[in-house]
Amino acid sequence: MFCSKCKSNAIIYLPYSKTHLCEGHFRGMFEKRFRATVREFSMIKKGERIAVALSGGKDSCVLLHCLEMLRSSLPFELVAITIDEGIKGYRNRTLEVARHEAKKLGIAHHIFSFKKDAGRSLDELMKEKKGRLPCTYCGVIRRRMLNMAGRGVGADKIAFGHNLDDFAQTVLMNIMRNEPIRLARLNEPLIQNGKFVRRIRPLMRAPEKEVAVYALINNIGVDFQECPYSGHAFRAHVRRQLNETEELYPGTKLRTVNSFFGIEKLLRKGLETENMKIRCCRECGEPASREVCVFCAMVEGV
Ligand code: SF4
Repeated sequence: MFCSKCKSNAIIYLPYSKTHLCEGHFRGMFEKRFRATVREFSMIKKGERIAVALSGGKDSCVLLHCLEMLRSSLPFELVAITIDEGIKGYRNRTLEVARHEAKKLGIAHHIFSFKKDAGRSLDELMKEKKGRLPCTYCGVIRRRMLNMAGRGVGADKIAFGHNLDDFAQTVLMNIMRNEPIRLARLNEPLIQNGKFVRRIRPLMRAPEKEVAVYALINNIGVDFQECPYSGHAFRAHVRRQLNETEELYPGTKLRTVNSFFGIEKLLRKGLETENMKIRCCRECGEPASREVCVFCAMVEGV
């Protein structure tokens, strides 16, 4: 197959736009979309300090490289933070990749661990909480630790490598679970709390497959191994369904994400209310949506 733009050999087919692209045109399209997303949502301002949540997976490694590239036209500071959940045989490998990529780009890298900061590794916690879903605990602890780590390194914002697939899954999961406030909070500029470090997702319009191809053609070292707990997640089920729908109706993921932002714009007036204010947990003082945060309730047993 030939590139739809220049007739060189194509390396990828994009079903949602019915185009074949060669390496050069694919790279150009990917980076242009990245810059446009950052600009459209005013994600980064000149002089800000951005902390990348660097897991060592393909998404966060590609994000680190794209942000470093962006610094040539928009001056801002970049630092990387990694949370080691303590998942045997998985996180130790991705940690090595994260270390290597940050070093390659000369970016300061800080590592925090569940074991040290939450008292137990995820593996240990799961032995204690038999029969419970690992991702629920992991998500709660990791979000909290990332927010604290972001504050600790003086970040204005934390950048997540969530791609289009992740974002579309999150939108659908919140709808299916009847979580309107969580859904509304996906647009974070509306959240008001001094302790909350705003999160940005510059790859949210990049399909997962394209992130993987971008990593390969740019020699970005990534580990494609999946977390051993990932099969248990409700997300895995939603991902399968969404992939099947995308296969039949290309562009579904992008339309799902775009429809979230379309609806959110229409409802914004109604969302700037009491519900969007985050308070602080009575026990630990960290940002929380209720009197006692989920971490204190679930992990500390308050
Ligand atoms: Fe944590 Fe679940 Fe992700 Fe594994 S798949 S890192 S347990 S949230």
